[in-house]
Amino acid sequence: MNIQTETIFSWHDKLVKKEVSAVEILTLYKKRIEKLDKEIQAFLTLDFEHALQQAKNIDEQIKQKQEISLLAGLPVGVKDVLMTKGLRTTAGSKILDKYQAVYDATVVARLKDQGMVMVGKNNCDEFAMGSSTENSAFYPTKNPYDLTRVPGGSSGGSAAAVAASEVVYSLGTDTGGSIRQPAAFCGVVGLKPTYGLVSRYGLIAMASSLDCIGPFTKTVAESAAVLSIIAGHDANDATTQDKKIKNYHAELSANVKGLKVGLPQEYFIKGLDEKIKSIIMKLVRQLANQGAEIIDVSLPLTEYALPVYYIIMPAEVSSNLAKFDGLRFGSRGKEQKNLFAYYAHTRGQGFGAEVRRRILIGTYVLSAGYVDDYYLQAQKVRTKIYQDFTKIFTTVDVLLTPTTPTIPFKLGDKISDPLQMYLSDIYTVSANLAGLPGLSVPAGMVENLPVGVQLIGPRFSESTLFNIGLVIEELREPINQPNL
Ligand code: GLN
Repeated sequence: MNIQTETIFSWHDKLVKKEVSAVEILTLYKKRIEKLDKEIQAFLTLDFEHALQQAKNIDEQIKQKQEISLLAGLPVGVKDVLMTKGLRTTAGSKILDKYQAVYDATVVARLKDQGMVMVGKNNCDEFAMGSSTENSAFYPTKNPYDLTRVPGGSSGGSAAAVAASEVVYSLGTDTGGSIRQPAAFCGVVGLKPTYGLVSRYGLIAMASSLDCIGPFTKTVAESAAVLSIIAGHDANDATTQDKKIKNYHAELSANVKGLKVGLPQEYFIKGLDEKIKSIIMKLVRQLANQGAEIIDVSLPLTEYALPVYYIIMPAEVSSNLAKFDGLRFGSRGKEQKNLFAYYAHTRGQGFGAEVRRRILIGTYVLSAGYVDDYYLQAQKVRTKIYQDFTKIFTTVDVLLTPTTPTIPFKLGDKISDPLQMYLSDIYTVSANLAGLPGLSVPAGMVENLPVGVQLIGPRFSESTLFNIGLVIEELREPINQPNL
């Protein structure tokens, strides 16, 4: 058994054949966490006690010859913006340092129903705001491939935990790239599903019209397996679609023959690392050899995606985070001379610099006199960006781009320059603005660090993305496991 190469499928197989028990699997991962996580710091909270109970339940079911689900008995990490009943849930923020969730997010409940063994909560940028996990109020997570580098963010803990084999898979959230970008930086598969496919109930909201929950896994097939469980209508989230959910995993087929793959020229411009570009272009040629039709396309509004995102997102942030005032939610600050002073004190102490910056920007773009020029204008451009994509998808089935313009950067490199940090998401935010699915698959290695290729498709085209992802997994150069 090599913990670094095991998958959901291989573990499941071994469990069913009784070659290993769920408790033994948990013990292996626990040892690994105890050995590695002092340095990687992918977790904010660990809960081995309940995890052991969950593992024992699965072993009991196996003993009783009950059929167990594919995901049963497998150790999982959950980004700390997702509610986990009875367990500390901080959103990476001091203001929720002592908060214990009182209910499970729908995705968490669905995985628990399948017998997940949740080992703990993954570190993240405060309220999911960031691209490096350095905005966590507690500590930064390190990239398992190079401990001096960032794992990406905001779901850096979830990505690093999978890359380091501290869990079999994990959950993250993606508002502007926070699943795909850290997946690319950590050499794992990250899926941002179509907006409305996966319930957001129990997700501590950052920007509600952009937020999506999705899995981090080592392989594409595992991503499909997790999506099949977490996707689907939820009465508690009115934006979820009432669609029959496929068994994404059963429908996989590694075939790109006749598939029209668009290369948006705006994603291959100055600023993109030449070595990343050459890895992506090599994959493109290989896909063409497999029968894919490669088509150069243009998404002319791409340059507006980041500016639009950095108006709409903070506007929603300022509204969503208003409830953390120390009275309704958030830890109570010291008594002050009046209510206003109390709010200012609690929020000033509880929120970190990046969160405060975004609340200020958001409040500004929504304020009377500016709302038309900023917020409403941004909403109009957002619609245009969506139309840009809709038009392109009449000519191609899928778009292929790099996931990030650069390799994982050093800790500390961008933290004092928010604009540089925001540029990490240049290739990912558009999919959120348009509500489209995006899948990042490891594409190769540059200077011993992983880089990712991103696939973006029309709404609900996850199956197509998985199928191309499978082919890419076969074609690419091998991705080494981190040397830990
Ligand atoms: N890095 C982006 C930001 O800082 C995206 C964050 C996210 O997707 N949660 O807003």
